[in-house]
Amino acid sequence: MRTKKEKFVVEKSILLEHIQAAGLRRTNQRDLILEIFLSTEDHLTSEDLYGLVHRKDPTIGLTTVYRTLKLLTDAGLAREVGFGDGKTYYEHHYNHEHHDHMICTECGRVIEFFSPEIEELQDEMASRFGFRPTHHSLRMWGVCAECQRSKADAQPAPSGAQPRVRVKTAKH
Ligand SMILES: [Zn+2]
Ligand SMILES: [Zn+2]
Ligand SMILES: [Zn+2]
Repeated sequence: MRTKKEKFVVEKSILLEHIQAAGLRRTNQRDLILEIFLSTEDHLTSEDLYGLVHRKDPTIGLTTVYRTLKLLTDAGLAREVGFGDGKTYYEHHYNHEHHDHMICTECGRVIEFFSPEIEELQDEMASRFGFRPTHHSLRMWGVCAECQRSKADAQPAPSGAQPRVRVKTAKH
C-alpha cells in the first residue's frame, strides 16, 4: 500500500505531463488545488473546492480553481458527476474503483456503493439488447438513515389529547 504522500507525487506528475502537453506552465497554485482536491474524499463543486482552497491561499480565485478542475478532469485525475441538482460535482478518478451513488434529497449526503451483482445484471441487460456499454452511472435518490432518524425525532408522539404540533426542522 502506498502512502498518501507518495500517491500525490504520482498524481502531480500526471498533472504536470498534461499541463506541459497543453503548453501551460506549472504553478504552485495548481499544485495546491490538486493537493487539496486529493485530500478530500468528498464530492465537490468548484465552489466547494474554492472554499477549501481560499482558506489556505486567499489569493487564488474561483476561476483558477474552476479551470484547474477542468484540467484535472482532462488529465483523468478527476471525474464530473451530477446528482440531479443542476450542479457539477467532481470526484477522484485516478486509481479510484468504479462505484455508484445514493443521494439524500434532504441533506445532500452522497453514499458510494459497489455491487458486483448489480454490475453483472447491467452487463447482462446490455448484451440482451446487443448494446455495448462504455460507461454508466447508477444513482438512487432518497432519504438517508440519519435524516429518517431526525425526522422521526421531530414527529410528536401520537396522542389523542394533544393537538398536532408542526415542528420546523432546520435545513442543514
Ligand atoms: Zn456501477
Ligand atoms: Zn440525509
Ligand atoms: Zn463517488
